Amino acid sequence: MAAVMGEPGPQGRFGDFGGRYVPESLVEACDELDREFRSAWADPEFREEYERILADFAGRPTPVTECARLSEELGVRVLLKREDLAHTGSHKINNVVGQALLTRRMGKHRVIAETGAGQHGVATATAAALFGLECVVYMGEVDVERQALNVFRMRLLGAEVRPVASGSRTLKDAVNEALREWVATVETTHYCLGSVMGPHPFPWMVRELQRVVGTEANEQCRRLLDGGHPDVVVACVGGGSNAAGIFSGFADTDAQLVGVEAAGGAAIGHGVPGVVHGMKSYLLQDEAGQVAEAHSISAGLDYPGVGPEHAHLAATGRARYEPVDDAAVLDAFQLLSRTEGIIPAFESAHAVAWLMREAGRSVPRGSTVLINLSGRGDKDAAQAMDLLGDRL
Ligand SMILES: *Cc1c(COP(=O)(O)O)cnc(C)c1O
Repeated sequence: MAAVMGEPGPQGRFGDFGGRYVPESLVEACDELDREFRSAWADPEFREEYERILADFAGRPTPVTECARLSEELGVRVLLKREDLAHTGSHKINNVVGQALLTRRMGKHRVIAETGAGQHGVATATAAALFGLECVVYMGEVDVERQALNVFRMRLLGAEVRPVASGSRTLKDAVNEALREWVATVETTHYCLGSVMGPHPFPWMVRELQRVVGTEANEQCRRLLDGGHPDVVVACVGGGSNAAGIFSGFADTDAQLVGVEAAGGAAIGHGVPGVVHGMKSYLLQDEAGQVAEAHSISAGLDYPGVGPEHAHLAATGRARYEPVDDAAVLDAFQLLSRTEGIIPAFESAHAVAWLMREAGRSVPRGSTVLINLSGRGDKDAAQAMDLLGDRL
């Protein structure tokens, strides 16, 4: 039997999920990417350069922080993996540095990306600037309006932002548009996808590029826990890349793995199996079978699907996925800020909110829990100010 979170099966399958549902014209592009990533990932020079850039540019390794005051508050020992301290403020840099290096290795000089809230767009524009690559970011018109600051950041970093006017003019439409462009420009252009989704090899490749989070955390926990590992490892799930990264470091231990979805975007909790964006996975659909809109306080969890490996981990029971609502997220956002001096991204606050609810219930008192703190909350401060206002 294949190892848990090892290589996917033929055609990039994770059990019943994943695969590659793309037009004929993209089959060769996906094959090329699979070949190139496989060879790069087995090449010690490529790995060395990737690791060097993550160290010197992105600030890795990120620490694991012991949370004394939050632990006392919740009655469980809380550890945070600090992806909020990575350059650009989240785990996304790990993925884009790897894909930018791969772009250069394939002899291409241009990257395109999709973005919703703008976080992946900013990360891609950052890596493109570092490597001198042309960069075009597709972003739904609605998001362009909502996320003016990130649009400005991308432009400042030298990227072109192309507003997408089709469909609901949000993230899912931006992915469609990027895939459409890729068909036409694949000779010169790499599609730098932002999470563990899309057609094979993306879900596998992006998970491997985020594996560094889990590998570091496993070692750091062994040092802190006398060679042991946490009882529970928890992460928020949008497409699922930060969760896949940290889970991969503990998949072969008996740690419980928990993915936390936004209640309004719970693809595993409320979705049905279907095909979108080149993969088979769980999807939010309306009654007519159309892909439905996801809604959450955190734009980064507004994706109506989820990476296929998470669908598989849920189906096999190796990980479980639970929703939390916006009100609980706001509480967690404040609690972590006040007890630990760490303002989390709204996305990351989902994982904290889950623990606030479950500590002393499904997570017994005295347990050790590792939370992947996927990003910092500066980007969410203005929205929090509107929501909390005089409640503070
Ligand atoms: C983008 C983002 C997420 C969601 O993406 P995943 O692929 O599910 O990790 C979570 N947290 C932060 C801080 C993000 O920027």
